[in-house]
Amino acid sequence: MKLIVFDADGTLTRTASGKQFPETPSDKILQFNPKNLYHPNVYLAVASNQKGVSLGFKTSEFLEEEFAYLDDLTEHIFNCFIICPDDGESVWIKREHEEQFIRLGNQRGYQKFSEFPYLSGCESLIGTFRKPELGMLQLAEKIATWSPYGTREITDRIFIGDRESDQSAAQKAGFRFWYIDDFLQEINKATLLGVAVPEVLDGVSNEISL
Ligand SMILES: [Mg+2]
Repeated sequence: MKLIVFDADGTLTRTASGKQFPETPSDKILQFNPKNLYHPNVYLAVASNQKGVSLGFKTSEFLEEEFAYLDDLTEHIFNCFIICPDDGESVWIKREHEEQFIRLGNQRGYQKFSEFPYLSGCESLIGTFRKPELGMLQLAEKIATWSPYGTREITDRIFIGDRESDQSAAQKAGFRFWYIDDFLQEINKATLLGVAVPEVLDGVSNEISL
């Protein structure tokens, strides 16, 4: 199975308002149609720094609404959303079919990693969740790998982002990295050629072999 992780702001989406930060939870436009990425052998995740929450620029409710909107906008194609709301001490996770984010870390009221079988051993990542550290990408791999029937093998790890901090996180976690602009070019090429899913995925196979 391939694991493909996307950064959110500036990668999956940009603001509809043109502002750097979204003005409302639905202030988002997709940069491409992620449905093209659907493949039964691909696990799709999102890893997003959202320190504005711990700084008080953004409320938890705003963030929850923002990602619920993103989930709708992307037609629920992502298997997992991972958010770091602070300097790397805690992380929010929402897997497919789950209604709400679980909030994990040592803060009061947050849950412990040991409460969830698919997150066993992940408390050692506390402090590393904020990119350019590797914690969210390692979590994505852990979550993608786990199944109730045993471990699924990951054959390729890719992270797509728009910043150097994304690239650094990818390098530290052992993921191949693509800048979103390069990735969009490949997607557009495939679209122009009229190549359909899953061939669209093969269209980027020079770098991202699926
Ligand atoms: Mg970004």
